[in-house]
Amino acid sequence: MSRIIVTGGAGFIGSHLCERLVKEGNDVICLDNFFTGSKDNIRHLIGNNRFELVRHDVTKEFYAEADEIYNLACPASPPSYQYNPIKTVKTNVMGTINMLGLAKRCRAKILQASTSEIYGNPEQHPQKEEYWGNVNPIGIRSCYDEGKRCAETLMMDYHRQNKVNIRIVRIFNTYGPKMDKNDGRVVSNFIVQALQNKDITIYGDGSQTRSFCYVDDLIEGIVRMQNNKENFIGPVNLGNPSERSILEFAQMILRLTNSKSKIVYKALPSDDPIRRRPDITLAKEKLNWEPKIGIEEGLMKTIEYFDNLLKTEKR
Ligand code: NAD
Ligand code: UDP
Repeated sequence: MSRIIVTGGAGFIGSHLCERLVKEGNDVICLDNFFTGSKDNIRHLIGNNRFELVRHDVTKEFYAEADEIYNLACPASPPSYQYNPIKTVKTNVMGTINMLGLAKRCRAKILQASTSEIYGNPEQHPQKEEYWGNVNPIGIRSCYDEGKRCAETLMMDYHRQNKVNIRIVRIFNTYGPKMDKNDGRVVSNFIVQALQNKDITIYGDGSQTRSFCYVDDLIEGIVRMQNNKENFIGPVNLGNPSERSILEFAQMILRLTNSKSKIVYKALPSDDPIRRRPDITLAKEKLNWEPKIGIEEGLMKTIEYFDNLLKTEKR
C-alpha cells in the first residue's frame, strides 16, 4: 500500500488511474481544479476511505506526504489547451515544478504524463524515443507541446541535480469511456455526432493519421512504468501502433454506430500533425507491455458509454 497523489485525477485518464490505484489498496489523493475534469468521473470513489478529493490548482504549491505522484494535470484536447494558452504553459511548467518539489521533499517517486506532441509534426515515422521532434515553438499548439517538453526537461534536471526518482511516459492518442463529450477531440466528436445522426466533421481532407490506444491498455502501461523495479526512467512511448487515417476512422465509427450521419470537411487547424504512430519496442522490452484491446472492441465500449450518457441527459 502506498500514499499516491494523482494530479488531474478527475480527468479522463486520471479517473481511470485513481480507480485502479484505489482498487489495488492504495491511499489516493486526487488533486484537480476541474477545468476539464469532472466530479462525475470519480463520484463512485467519493466516500471510499482510501480516496481523497482536493480541489487544487497545481500552479500553486501543495503540501502533503506521499510515496508516489502521477502528474497528469493539464488539459489534453486542442480546444481546451488553446482556450487559455498562458495557463496551459503555467500548468505544465509551474505545476511540474511544484510536484517535483513535493517529490524531492518527500523522496517520492514521480511519473510525468508526457505526450506524442513533443515530437510535433514528425519527420521520422514511426516515432522512437530517441527522436527529438519537429515542434513549432510559436504556433497555436506550442503552449502544450513546448510546455510538455519543458516539463520533461524539469523532470530530467531534478533527477540529475537532486536525485529525484522519476518516470516519463509519452502518451499517444488515447480514448475510452469518461472522455469529455464536449472537449473537441476526434473520438468523442465523431461518436457523439454519429449517435445523434449529425454531420461528422473531418478537419482537412482526412488523410492525416493517428494511432488510437484504449484507456485500459494505457493505464496498465503507466502503472507498469511507475512500478518497474529496474529504475528505468524513460522516456517511453505508450500507445497503440495500429495507425489509420482520420477518414478511415470516421467511416469505421459510422459503420459501428449504424449512423445516418454525413461526412463534412472543415478547415484543418494549423500545425495539425500529418502522421503519428508510436514505436513501442522500448515499452515491450522494458515493461513487457503492449496494447491488447483492438480498435473495434475499444470503440464499441466507448460508443456504449456515450450512448448511455446521451440517453441519461435526455431524461
Ligand atoms: P483531461 O483534460 O480529461 O484531464 C486533465 C485533468 O487535469 C482534468 O481533470 C483537469 O481539470 C485537470 N487540470 C488541468 N489543469 C489543472 C491545474 N492547473 N490544476 C489541477 N488540475 C488541472 O485529459 P486526459 O486525456 O485525461 O489527459 C491526462 C494527461 O495525459 C494530460 O497531462 C495529458 O497531457 C496527457 N496525455 C493525454 C493524451 C490523450 O490522448 N488522452 C495523450 C497524450 C498525453
Ligand atoms: N479532427 C477531426 N474532426 C474533429 C476533431 C478532430 O478531423 O471533429 C482531427 C484533428 O484535426 C486531428 C485528429 O482528428 O488531425 C486528432 O485530433 P484530436 O484533437 O483528437 O487530437 P490530436 O490532434 O491532439 O492528436
